[in-house]
Amino acid sequence: MIDKTTELIVVSNKNLQSAANVDFYHHDISSALQTTLEFEELIAIFCTKIQQMIPHKGIEYHNPEFDLNFKRGVSAAYSCRYALKVEDQQLGELILMREHSFSGKELQILARLLCCLIYPLRNATLFHQALKMAYTDTLTKTSNRAAFYDCLQREIKRVKRSVQPLSLVFVDLDDFKAINDTYGHECGDMVLAAVANWLTVSVRGSDAVFRYGGEEFVVILCDTDADGARVIAERIRKDIAAHTMAYDRHLLSITASVGVSTLMAQEHADSLVKRADAAMYRAKKLGRNQVCVG
Ligand code: GH3
Ligand code: MG
Ligand code: MG
Repeated sequence: MIDKTTELIVVSNKNLQSAANVDFYHHDISSALQTTLEFEELIAIFCTKIQQMIPHKGIEYHNPEFDLNFKRGVSAAYSCRYALKVEDQQLGELILMREHSFSGKELQILARLLCCLIYPLRNATLFHQALKMAYTDTLTKTSNRAAFYDCLQREIKRVKRSVQPLSLVFVDLDDFKAINDTYGHECGDMVLAAVANWLTVSVRGSDAVFRYGGEEFVVILCDTDADGARVIAERIRKDIAAHTMAYDRHLLSITASVGVSTLMAQEHADSLVKRADAAMYRAKKLGRNQVCVG
């Protein structure tokens, strides 16, 4: 349990002045920190490198922008925390913990060493911000098709290792062209954003919603078998049909055709996607607003 916080220091680029006086440790730490753009690795390298100068039992790093919260080692009674930032850019909070208090001298050294960390952390932040933008659909704020394929490959590897099931739900809005033609693209855009939001709310936190393209969405259902996936697909279909949207005093009723597929042994991503897509087309042929299993 942490019951004592020694000091709160905001490290800004002003402190870089103190780093001007670089010594061997700064060089060593700086070059090691240039080897990665991953937050967790950066923090781990930094903590390993400073261990000799500032012995500590555990560390925590929190970065709300990227929803990162990780811990190495163990909690201890004494801690010092640093809200890291460069200019106006927040780079997260670092907490060092140990059984006895940190001396003023140690905290001075630590503040200087942290100057080696903040620019690599800023580079990691810029890199991950760019990645996030490249993977986000701007209209619906869901992840896009590129993110979908990355995530699907990753999840397939994971479930194969852990022998868990994985399913896909393919959602295509019915007669969506008619909405654009009747009420205009702006209305169509509004509907897409709303549907993305309903989908996100209706699946579990561990499941991910992606905009596959135009008026098509896909949900990766982690650790979900065929029976579970069919139940979720039916819930998604019902949710979409149950919502009514108003646009310019017109009531719009939206429905979707839904296709489901569940990963088979030895199956690859492409085939899994094709089966969900084909099942969705079967639902269209059978009259729309229904679920078919691939
Ligand atoms: P079906 O029930 O067979 O799926 O019919 P549909 O009209 O939904 O399918 P179709 O493929 O004929 O039309 C899809 C429409 O989606 C056409 C396209 O203009 C529209 N669309 C695609 N992307 C966007 C978008 O970002 N915004 C808007 N407003 N419309 C889009
Ligand atoms: Mg379509
Ligand atoms: Mg459609």
